[in-house]
Amino acid sequence: MRIITEPTEMQSIAESLRLQHQFIGVVMTMGALHEGHLSLVRLAKKKAGIVIMTVFVNPTQFGPDEDFERYPRPFEQDSALARSAGVDYLFAPSAEQMYPEGFSTSIDPGPMAGSFEGRLRPGHFNGVATVVVKLLGITRPHFAVFGEKDAQQVAVIRRVVADLNIGTVIEGAPIAREGDGLATSSRNIYLSFEERQQATALFRAIRHAQQETESGRNDLAAIAKEAESIVHAESAARTDYLCFVEEDTFEPAADAIPGKAYRLIMAVRLGSTRLIDNWKYVCGEDRGS
Ligand code: AMP
Repeated sequence: MRIITEPTEMQSIAESLRLQHQFIGVVMTMGALHEGHLSLVRLAKKKAGIVIMTVFVNPTQFGPDEDFERYPRPFEQDSALARSAGVDYLFAPSAEQMYPEGFSTSIDPGPMAGSFEGRLRPGHFNGVATVVVKLLGITRPHFAVFGEKDAQQVAVIRRVVADLNIGTVIEGAPIAREGDGLATSSRNIYLSFEERQQATALFRAIRHAQQETESGRNDLAAIAKEAESIVHAESAARTDYLCFVEEDTFEPAADAIPGKAYRLIMAVRLGSTRLIDNWKYVCGEDRGS
């Protein structure tokens, strides 16, 4: 595995790989790698001849009161994990290399970026969209894998890539979870012992929604309320949002229509840690994912 820090060098490597007819897949991360990230690499490796992983804690997607400074950056450990997962190139630029003096472009992904995560984190998806388009330009992949853990991010990126005719295929990867159902996340290390136990409420809420929809109910708004009460039963937990949305538009959904796809999405605060999770439900199918 080669470690590259200079955007122009990464770009010319990607260009020459393309000239050699290599099929390139990219996995973008902010580092602090865990099983969720590695599952994305495994998925990429199934199709790609070359897998590029990017590790960049992107300052422009963090709000002023968010955890940019304290975000974990265990680079040695990350590069060892990336190497053993079979990554071919690890692209890890500095903020100065990505945003040199004079940088002034910001991509506005439109209305979908203004709800839920976008409403609570103003500017977040502008930062995400801009860095993703930059990283696609630098790594020139045929496809990019993003985790459905950040489902709204996947929807926003699909919108941007389609709207700007970028041509990279965007693949969604299933959510990797701990044994008790908690979605793996670089932020889970912030949880105290008690909060870590309380965090299982998110998956219990998902399970409830799964059981109820599988039993034939289609009153999504009511099911979401019940799921929220499961989260609130943990006294320390506060929900930023918990509801069903339509899969493609992220518009809130009250009742399920057969054949349509929905997502139960949630953001929950436990102490100073904010966790997100979701579950996809296709009305009329046996199981969601
Ligand atoms: P991050 O480093 O948190 O920006 O995440 C980098 C990529 O890994 C994003 O596409 C995330 O959606 C994905 N990811 C993070 N956690 C998980 C998880 N538990 N399961 C699947 N994908 C994940």
